[in-house]
Amino acid sequence: MTKPRLVVIGGGLGGHKIAHALQSAMETVLIDPKSFWEIPMAMPRQLVRPAELDSIVAFQRFLPKVRHIQARAVAVTPELVRVDGGEDVRFDYLVVATGANYRSALVKPLEGDAASRIEYYRSLNAQVTAAGRILIVGAGPIGVEIAGELSEEFPEKIVTLMEREGRLLPHASEKLSSWAAEALAKRGVNLVVGDELLSPVAPGSDVDTAGGEAVTGAGRRIAYDLALWCLGARSDATFLAQNFPDAVNDRGEVIVNACLQAAGAQNVFALGDATNFPAKGGVPLHGQVKVMQRNLLEIARVGPAARLLPFKPPPALDLAVISLGRNAGVMKLPFGEFRAGWMARAFKSRDMLVGHLRKDIGV
Ligand SMILES: Cc1cc2nc3c(=O)[nH]c(=O)nc-3n(C[C@H](O)[C@H](O)[C@H](O)COP(=O)(O)OP(=O)(O)OC[C@H]3O[C@@H](n4cnc5c(N)ncnc54)[C@H](O)[C@@H]3O)c2cc1C
Repeated sequence: MTKPRLVVIGGGLGGHKIAHALQSAMETVLIDPKSFWEIPMAMPRQLVRPAELDSIVAFQRFLPKVRHIQARAVAVTPELVRVDGGEDVRFDYLVVATGANYRSALVKPLEGDAASRIEYYRSLNAQVTAAGRILIVGAGPIGVEIAGELSEEFPEKIVTLMEREGRLLPHASEKLSSWAAEALAKRGVNLVVGDELLSPVAPGSDVDTAGGEAVTGAGRRIAYDLALWCLGARSDATFLAQNFPDAVNDRGEVIVNACLQAAGAQNVFALGDATNFPAKGGVPLHGQVKVMQRNLLEIARVGPAARLLPFKPPPALDLAVISLGRNAGVMKLPFGEFRAGWMARAFKSRDMLVGHLRKDIGV
């Protein structure tokens, strides 16, 4: 009996797990312009210690039965995915796991192979090491974690963390935000909140290694040798829109039902940051992956009549562990909010979840 063909677009935090779990049960194809999966949580540590964490894993190491097409999906019809090299890839079932787009290759790699990504970190680390004054624009979790790593590893550097909203971590509770601000200020990080960067304009890469002077709305002038923009991202699943106009909203997100099927397309599934599910990030994604793995395995077993289970969001979705270097952090856990260093280390800061996430795929 021929196996149904599953095409997964995007091999990030969600997509790599779907391809890994389904590779024996279905003929599985993964489309991603990179040839590796990178554990995103490790990026802030990679910036200061590029060789310490093994967070970059080539797809071929854990997806031996998967055909990887190193390209970007540009259009989807009811049976085919078209990629930017022009190839049309037929599918019986499709998973859209394209996440959210950041402009910055630092925050999220856009293409290439594992060796070039490791080289990217080495080279950026050399520039970070040489820079005396570093400006971070955006104090969401990523900007705050980078400030934590830089201030711990290089206490002599002048690090400035800038946020347009009135506080760090604007989407976290006030308690977590004030704890993070206190910890960073104690290490000498200059915190500029409620002020907007007027110039320079972010370069296309969101990493400025040329240096210059930043000017803010409140008239501050901040000289820097290196600046990193850590701004928000948005989904971009518009490649679905031409043939599935009801499946994509005006934010570029895939509209999914409880079984994670795209609106109007029963054999097209989506998960993670690419969807219109309001909570984004690793916590909701974990539950979505489990449900989708189970549903696709059931389809592989009994065919299209398989009874699909719905994704039931866990009660607390705003859980977060924000690391501030290897021995500190602030966190919201199911049983309360904490800032004990040993807890941050145990939950994340020691290896930024690399061991835990690699174990899931047996590497
Ligand atoms: C630096 C960083 C740190 C983070 N830290 C945390 C954390 O500590 N805790 C937490 O919960 N969340 C964290 N997040 C958020 C978390 O990583 C995301 O919520 C998660 O990765 C979303 O998973 P995903 O599978 O939906 O998309 P992603 O992991 O973003 O994967 C998307 C994949 O799709 C590919 N792709 C995109 N467009 C196309 C296309 N057109 N064709 C083919 N392939 C395409 C990309 O190359 C990528 O491999 C962090 C994110 C970043 C960037």
